[in-house]
Amino acid sequence: MRSHWCREDPTPARQLRPERKPNKILEDPFLHARFLGSSPPPKIERRAPVRGEVGAGSWFLCLLLSLPPSCFCSLIGMAAECESGNCHAWAAKDPSGTLSPYKFNRRTVQSGDISLRITHCGVCYADVIWTRNQHNDSVYPLVPGHEIAGVVTEVGSDVNGFKVGDHVCVGTYVNSCRDCENCNSFLENHCSKFVFTFNGVDTDGTVTKGGYSGHIVVHERYCYKIPDGYPLEKAAPLVCAGITVYTPMIRHNMNQPGKSLGVIGLGGLGHMAVKFGKSFGLKVTVFSTSESKREEAISLLGADNFVISSDKKQMEAHGLWLEV
Ligand SMILES: [Zn+2]
Ligand SMILES: [Zn+2]
Repeated sequence: MRSHWCREDPTPARQLRPERKPNKILEDPFLHARFLGSSPPPKIERRAPVRGEVGAGSWFLCLLLSLPPSCFCSLIGMAAECESGNCHAWAAKDPSGTLSPYKFNRRTVQSGDISLRITHCGVCYADVIWTRNQHNDSVYPLVPGHEIAGVVTEVGSDVNGFKVGDHVCVGTYVNSCRDCENCNSFLENHCSKFVFTFNGVDTDGTVTKGGYSGHIVVHERYCYKIPDGYPLEKAAPLVCAGITVYTPMIRHNMNQPGKSLGVIGLGGLGHMAVKFGKSFGLKVTVFSTSESKREEAISLLGADNFVISSDKKQMEAHGLWLEV
């Protein structure tokens, strides 16, 4: 989870604001019309390659983040343990997995940065992994969260892609070299020097802290505009879980009505694959080891078939006609 830079920011000014590919997942008309149940939004102004619904965690964090600072620390009676700083957060202090109130300093807004007030943050399994130090590289206190949505409150002098009041999301990384083949191809997540949104080492040597916090300062390159009218709580999980499912579906042309999609497991990614699949008009079959997921798959998410993957007969009956 750690990422290190070995030199100062080498990026010429002209590379700080490259023209970006459109944010396909946030402007996909099928997803707007069917997934969100509303009309497509106005065309997105510009911006980048992002990623792909909603966990209950978003609502929970929305509630927490909406609390005034005074409430934040006094919540659950832990005011005495709050450190100083300009940003309120929930942090893991050890591998127990327990989060508690925490304060730290976000950097001031630099010329290419935007600052956003975080309104929602999805809950990703990565949050569980690193708060519990399951990869033995967690740096505590650790503020998780990399499915971030919020409202821009400040922009740097060189920022031209965003303005105060814009709805914006931030995903799994917040920096990269901006100079390599991958960065120049808008594949910053493949850059050898990219910096994770939390528990990563940024260019200034600080350990990054994620979206379980009141605000975040990010270079505009790693921010993505949320179209007007798009619910922030539904946008947040798209920038990790959503894009993880959406990208391969698009690459394999699994957005063409009538095709058959198989979804193995009905977890965070799986449930989103079902919703995307139905939004695209696919015939969706869910494979699970648990009969308890049938009701959710069929009635709540709209899957066409549900197969117990440990049942050989069911597998033989359903496994051969799937396109993906
Ligand atoms: Zn994630
Ligand atoms: Zn790079």
